Amino acid sequence: MAVMKFGGTSVGTARAIQQAISIVVREQEKTVPLVVLSACSGITNKLVRIADAAGCSHLDEAVALAGEVRSFHLALLDELIKSSALKKDIALKIEALADRLEMLIKGVDIVGELTERSRDMFCSFGELFSTTVFAAVMKEQGHNVAWIDVRTVMITDDNFGFARPINDVCEENVSRIISPLLQQGTVVVTQGYIGATKDGRTTTLGRGGSDFSAALLGAWLNDNAIQIWTDVDGVMTCDPRLVPEARSIRVMTFSEAAELAYLGAKVLHPDTIAPAVLKNIPVYVLNSLHPDAKGTIITNDPERLSGMSYGGLVKSIAVKKGQCIINVRSNRMFGRHGFMNELFGIFARYGVSVEMISTSEVSVSLTVDETSFSDELIHDLESFGEVDREHNVATISVVGDNLRMSRGVAGRIFSALKDVNLRMISQGASEINVGFVVEEAEVVTAVNNLHREFFSGWQNEGIFETPAGSR
Ligand code: ASP
Ligand code: MG
Repeated sequence: MAVMKFGGTSVGTARAIQQAISIVVREQEKTVPLVVLSACSGITNKLVRIADAAGCSHLDEAVALAGEVRSFHLALLDELIKSSALKKDIALKIEALADRLEMLIKGVDIVGELTERSRDMFCSFGELFSTTVFAAVMKEQGHNVAWIDVRTVMITDDNFGFARPINDVCEENVSRIISPLLQQGTVVVTQGYIGATKDGRTTTLGRGGSDFSAALLGAWLNDNAIQIWTDVDGVMTCDPRLVPEARSIRVMTFSEAAELAYLGAKVLHPDTIAPAVLKNIPVYVLNSLHPDAKGTIITNDPERLSGMSYGGLVKSIAVKKGQCIINVRSNRMFGRHGFMNELFGIFARYGVSVEMISTSEVSVSLTVDETSFSDELIHDLESFGEVDREHNVATISVVGDNLRMSRGVAGRIFSALKDVNLRMISQGASEINVGFVVEEAEVVTAVNNLHREFFSGWQNEGIFETPAGSR
């Protein structure tokens, strides 16, 4: 068995859907897959806009957007399904879903209030649409396929907008509903991202939650692999838009992947892969546009890792732009206790996440997302001492399990960056990352210098691959 998850861009157009189906069919020669889909790209964002519009009584706008969602999926169907009987049948299903979306808009408009609960209802439509179309196309092509409403399987708590599954109930549901179908050779197509409470209220797992759905379902199925199909060639040594020589990484450990995700690389969210980590199921990150490229395997399996031992230090370089440094200087800090507690209490009160920290006895520097804080927060900080801000900065982090045991890394990093103005430095507590902050204008120079320092010489190690698109 294999869980194959396709992201929004991998099912965003008729062509992408055809391509995704051909990947599923190819897999079917080896095993019976469980296919987990996102909404078509852009649809969840549109549903969020519809929800917001309905919530503030912009009825016309909400209804117009819902009309776009309806016609988008009908057009997909039109392009993909040939048989007129099947087309009619599926069109009715799409219309019924779109009608329910409109009813929901009107309901929220009448009540005049958008709750988290109804927001989840809105957001759930995208995956219901995409899976309906996908399963129908597979069926028309003669494949043995079942469409499952994942809300009968993925039973969650009632934390709407960020629901978490009730493991034992879900595991039982998987073995009762999904496993028998797979065992009899039926491909199962179902929704990522959504679930339901025990009493049948629709929930979502949080934005981008489809990867999490796939990892959970894979873990409950005791699967031997989870495939995440996206539109990039796996995890890269650096963002290829910044570093043209960036390559895709063949294999990385779960901790490296988690660290990278926290540090701003567009990898899987660390919580996403946790269920797979617990069961030691490898996660493959693959590109549906280049299905023959090897992609990245994320695993802790020593056997898989040993075939690909890597003598280099750094595995990847992550960049997070749009950051701001806040410096707080105060003589009151000197020799006092409880100061940090009070200082960070302010960030907690405003719900602002602090990313990187560096301190001395009389000053604290930290980074936050540029859009995450307000003037009020700064004002409150000023009660501690002098506060200043440095805008338009970016954090850069070099990550690799091998950093843990190596001498001389800092020397190499800083000599590669000798022409760059470093605004802040922080050695990650995890020991597998070193981070620093530079002005945004210097990001390209900084990451290209680092990439040259740490990756030239590893071209032919089998651990990295030139992205398929640039071959
Ligand atoms: N469609 C949902 C979103 O856009 C879930 C996902 O794609 O993972 O957030
Ligand atoms: Mg997505």
